[in-house]
Amino acid sequence: MSRCERVTMNRYTNSMENEPKIAGRNICAVITANADYSLSPAMHNSAYEATGLADRFVYVARSTSADELNGVIQEVRSNENYKGLSIGVPHKQTIMPLLDVIDDAAKKIGAVNTVVINRDNGKPTLSGFNTDWIGIREPLRQRVDLKGKRVAIVGAGGAARAAVYAVLQEGADVKIYNRTLKHAQFLGVEFGCQAGSLDELSEIVDANVIIHATKLGMSKDDPLPIPAEFIQPNHVLFDVVYDRRNPETDLAKAAKQKGATVIEGREMLLWQGVEQFRLFTGHNAPVEVMREAIL
Ligand code: NAP
Repeated sequence: MSRCERVTMNRYTNSMENEPKIAGRNICAVITANADYSLSPAMHNSAYEATGLADRFVYVARSTSADELNGVIQEVRSNENYKGLSIGVPHKQTIMPLLDVIDDAAKKIGAVNTVVINRDNGKPTLSGFNTDWIGIREPLRQRVDLKGKRVAIVGAGGAARAAVYAVLQEGADVKIYNRTLKHAQFLGVEFGCQAGSLDELSEIVDANVIIHATKLGMSKDDPLPIPAEFIQPNHVLFDVVYDRRNPETDLAKAAKQKGATVIEGREMLLWQGVEQFRLFTGHNAPVEVMREAIL
């Protein structure tokens, strides 16, 4: 069994002070409510092995409830081995007041999914970043030049905010569609783009790119979030929903049947992780190794 597998299986949820395998190494950790299903340890530890960094870095999973977040961050400040954190649901907003610095993209998106810890004479500085938007930008960049393209974003929650930010950075023309119209309108005003309700969704036949960012698709019983009749062969459809127990969503399946170019949620997971690896280690990430690890 490789070190990567050992570390992945050996996830601990409490203090790590007495864990011999991590002694002396930089610790990176995913902090999320239920870390049992996180693919991040496998993805990052594989990358450390492939780049010869495994003697200096280890990545662990820490299931952390909302009540535990403050204590975990205090521990991160005081344990000089901590180098980086990946922040998952439900902490992406609540972590923000606990940090020392937040970068502009994370401020605009309103969420932090990455924390880098630097120490100057032992004094820790916790800096917050958002790499989710890069997880949306990179797979799109590989398939389409977004400048001037019509992009329909379905959903108005956290993932949609990252998507809106990403495609506006690339010069796209954006309309947000959401179940609760006022949530879409709020985002539209904030980012300066159009907003509509799901009743207007038939308009997406004229879009170049569709990004689906609602919660629908996590469960097998969920209805299709976008009627298949609206999906065209010339569409690029990015379904950000990803569940490792059910990796191909019904929407992705339906869009492939329609002949659309489909980007699945694991691509977002991969590319946000690629950027995290660079922020944590200062090295370029071994993308294909990380892709293999999450597959
Ligand atoms: P969120 O902030 O809670 O937002 C949820 C969104 O889903 C809202 O727009 C909500 O609409 C909509 N929604 C919920 N139930 C719905 C229903 N029954 N019908 C229609 N719309 C519904 O959640 P989030 O953090 O943005 O996450 C959204 C999705 O992105 C999740 O599936 C998550 O797994 C995925 N995600 C993937 C990655 C990745 O790496 N691949 C990263 C982050 C998130 P209302 O405004 O009307 O409530």
